Amino acid sequence: MRPIKMVDLKGLYLDIKSEVDRAIQEVLDGTDFIQGKAVNDFENSLSGYLGRPNVISCGNGTDALQIAMMALDFKPGDEVILPVHTYVATAEVIALLRLVPVFADVDAITFTLDVSQIEKKITKRTVAIVPVHLYGQCAPMDTILALAKKHGLYVIEDAAQSFGAEYIFPDGKRKKSGTLGDIGSTSFFPTKNLGAFGDGGALFTNDKVLAEKIRMIANHGQKKKYHHDVIGVNSRLDTLQAAILNVKLNYLDEYAGKRRAVADYYDSNLNGIQSLRTPFRVSYSTHVFHQYTIVVNDIDRDNLKSYLQEKNIPTMIYYPVPLHLQKAYRRENIGPGSFPVSEKLSTTVLSLPIHTEMDNEQLSYICDAIKSFINS
Ligand SMILES: *Cc1c(COP(=O)(O)O)cnc(C)c1O
Repeated sequence: MRPIKMVDLKGLYLDIKSEVDRAIQEVLDGTDFIQGKAVNDFENSLSGYLGRPNVISCGNGTDALQIAMMALDFKPGDEVILPVHTYVATAEVIALLRLVPVFADVDAITFTLDVSQIEKKITKRTVAIVPVHLYGQCAPMDTILALAKKHGLYVIEDAAQSFGAEYIFPDGKRKKSGTLGDIGSTSFFPTKNLGAFGDGGALFTNDKVLAEKIRMIANHGQKKKYHHDVIGVNSRLDTLQAAILNVKLNYLDEYAGKRRAVADYYDSNLNGIQSLRTPFRVSYSTHVFHQYTIVVNDIDRDNLKSYLQEKNIPTMIYYPVPLHLQKAYRRENIGPGSFPVSEKLSTTVLSLPIHTEMDNEQLSYICDAIKSFINS
């Protein structure tokens, strides 16, 4: 059996090596390393893929969130509602801009924002909601968009883990995750579903004026070189990364299909085991399985993790400490017990290996190991 990895970037590269190498060589030959032709090409392909007119690439997914909040002119003290069970980047940029991260608990089954928690978090200073489409499946955007509309709030979607997933409206209409809110953002970190060979990110919006502002902010607040109209940042997608991503974008849906097949395999082997719950698939979103995350109930998660590690099966915990209990984000009166669902998830979730290069031998070995732990 081939060694099991959490992700297999090498295998993924080798599958499309000649195409990727050619794209890289073209950039080397052109030496247009910053804002070269491939960046523009990639933005156009992304725009076509997403069905969103304005796509602006940037340095990484964290910057994308920050640039979105800068472009919407949020002022220090403004409050932004976000899930407490997420990657730190979502809260980090809010705090960096001197805005106030207002955490909300997540739903125990879907892992995304618990919409029943949102309204009681809204105050006069609230300016936005940031749903995170965690693990590859969309948050319930119908409700979130309706709440935002009712209270005059912006919606910034963190689609770093859900790139390529589709939201399905009650009338059956579909839209790509990240294209429903005022601004959507994503990350091209190498292990994300659409991964570069380094850092990268992008923002999407329907609003042309906003798009222009985003583009300026991502490039030192300038439209014309050395003429700075607003305060910006230096956050550009490298031409090399854009060229690589442009190749990989053609395979994104195929990759999602392979990930789904892995998820189906896990489902059919692990469903019905009392001590764990496999990921719930909601009716309002497709799932691109950035992660395949199980929740254990009457067994010790950390013991299971060590047991699997001994059998050379890597697993990950996304995330072991909810944001309100992180040293950097702790606040008075928001201690343990404030977000019971997220706190419970931090001790019960376990993400199993899932990527495009897995075979049935590996999957069967993993499922057997999990079962043997549970039955022992
Ligand atoms: C990866 C990730 C980010 C940040 O993306 P980077 O490109 O690593 O900066 C933000 N939010 C979520 C939910 C992520 O998973």
